[in-house]
Amino acid sequence: MSMAATIIDGKAIAAEIRASLKERVQKFSSTVGAAPGLAVVLVGDDPASHIYVRTKERVSGEVGIRFEKHHLPHDAAEEEVVRLVRRLGERDDVDGILVQLPLPGHISERAVLEAVDPAKDVDGFHPQNAGRLLAHGSGIVPCTPAGILELIRRTGVRIEGKEAVVVGRSNIVGKPTALLLLQQHATVTLAHSRTVDLPKVCRRADILVVAVGRPQLITAGYVKPGAIVIDVGINRLPGGELVGDVAFDEVKDVAGYLTPVPGGVGPMTIAMLAQNTIDAAMARRGVSC
Ligand code: NDP
Repeated sequence: MSMAATIIDGKAIAAEIRASLKERVQKFSSTVGAAPGLAVVLVGDDPASHIYVRTKERVSGEVGIRFEKHHLPHDAAEEEVVRLVRRLGERDDVDGILVQLPLPGHISERAVLEAVDPAKDVDGFHPQNAGRLLAHGSGIVPCTPAGILELIRRTGVRIEGKEAVVVGRSNIVGKPTALLLLQQHATVTLAHSRTVDLPKVCRRADILVVAVGRPQLITAGYVKPGAIVIDVGINRLPGGELVGDVAFDEVKDVAGYLTPVPGGVGPMTIAMLAQNTIDAAMARRGVSC
């Protein structure tokens, strides 16, 4: 006899967070006399990137962050992008800088990301912030991992001492998520494409975070009964349907908690971007609210 998992409503939690951020922005703006400013750098014409940037613009507007988009052509030189990012770093009215990835192939992502002022690096991808997370669990934390942790916290389940398995070791999602869980005193395993017997490794997990990008990779046989399962994957099927990395319909009968796709981690990522922008603005301007 199995019980259906509690579905974690990322959409509703993200809406709650945005509402409280809106109040913080109002206090900030009346104290400082200006709204926090977020600058997004977008190079080229990748349709998905344009959609993501539009969503970031909409959410910024909703919470009261001043948003500016800097769109450079696909053939922009690396030096040009680096110069723009540096200029944004020098501007006092810009609190957050985000470079929309991926960049066109002729531009080094590393060179551009390292040009971002670490104090304004709201994606948390600058080596200084990555290093701070590794060494002290501080600094600006990448948005998707921050959102994942918040979703886990909101289940009310204690993280300390739990077995956590993170599948996927990217710098954007898997690695920082593993570090955050470690910081919360979980026993963490970081799995990837070379992991031997992935189902067995995953079945250890009280907390299973999946960030791979392969539809239906995680079936019921990978999941410990009652586990918290966070599905980060976003995959578009040939028919246009959006699905995660977890076979939702079967895993929901085994897991204790499960995030849907869409409506799970996705909306949390954008809410955390707004939160990082406000936190960066407050830190830079010495305001607390
Ligand atoms: P990457 O492609 O950078 O990393 C994928 C990881 O999965 C790699 O570490 C890879 O291992 C591992 N992997 C690949 N195949 C397997 C396999 N068969 N078994 C185990 N591990 C495997 O992806 P990202 O981290 O950038 O993104 C992951 C997913 O999350 C994507 O679907 C992406 O669209 C989504 N995403 C969602 C966000 C959101 O807001 N909801 C934000 C960011 C990403 P190896 O290192 O060995 O190659």
